[in-house]
Amino acid sequence: MFICKNCKSVDKFELMFSPEYQGSKSFSLKYNANNEIEITVDGYTFVPDLMFMNQFAVCKYCGQIYMWDYKMENKSD
Ligand SMILES: [Zn+2]
Repeated sequence: MFICKNCKSVDKFELMFSPEYQGSKSFSLKYNANNEIEITVDGYTFVPDLMFMNQFAVCKYCGQIYMWDYKMENKSD
């Protein structure tokens, strides 16, 4: 999961597409069995890393870019 360092919202983002991008820009996300986010763009599914997020993701709430960090879950073990 990713947290916005500006407004602290978690996994609330949109992707920015370059003007040259030719696909339909259909975008969805879900969580896999490891509770990692999976993004599907035009039928291509992948697990984004922090570098990807800070290049392409914009926060839905505050509009910031380049502001993502990993959100660690509290684990009892
Ligand atoms: Zn934000």
